[in-house]
Amino acid sequence: MKKNEAALVCFSGGQDSTTCLFWAKKHFSRVEAVCFTYGQKHSLEIEVARKIAADAAVPFQLLDVSLLSQLDRNCSLVNSAIEMDQEKPADKYPNTFVPGRNMIFLTFAAILARSKGIFNLVTGVSEADYSGYPDCRDTFVRSLNVTLNLAMDEQFVIHTPLMNRDKSAVWELSDELGVLDLVRRETLTCYNGVKAEGCGHCPACKLRNEGLKKYLHEKEQKTK
Ligand code: ZN
Repeated sequence: MKKNEAALVCFSGGQDSTTCLFWAKKHFSRVEAVCFTYGQKHSLEIEVARKIAADAAVPFQLLDVSLLSQLDRNCSLVNSAIEMDQEKPADKYPNTFVPGRNMIFLTFAAILARSKGIFNLVTGVSEADYSGYPDCRDTFVRSLNVTLNLAMDEQFVIHTPLMNRDKSAVWELSDELGVLDLVRRETLTCYNGVKAEGCGHCPACKLRNEGLKKYLHEKEQKTK
């Protein structure tokens, strides 16, 4: 990682990618953000992302990949007729899984980045958390990194600062970066499209809020 380089962050306005945005601002001299719309039910998250980027003085670009939601209607994030899985089913991924999403996002991000002379990509995926989506795993990201380099004969580096962090450790990083309050107040992680603390009962809210509780508790114990 070189401070004088530029990075493009895959940015959704949620807790994870917002933490990554500020991590990137610390480690790179120039940071841009790309946000994807893919037919998700809650378009509010795009406005949330746009505002955070504007406040952070980060150039923001929105790409429409809504073709994704036409290819597969079995995901509860894009099809309101499907009731969202609240727990991970024993034998498969929860229906909040969008097949191919991170592969498409990172591939388009790489094409966009290359056109701007940027070869560092930042994504907030983590394999430490419970949801266990296959395209959040380190193996997948490394594999795609190689593929992108071969596909475009370039030397992209995909950075995953959250890869081994659970939600509590993601809060810790945002605190280290001085943006814990901003992340608490301004981001949208909730599957029901409610900003900040969220609806409180969807799987994304549970992870986020339990992580925060754990982090604040640990912090309090340390300062005692
Ligand atoms: Zn929620």
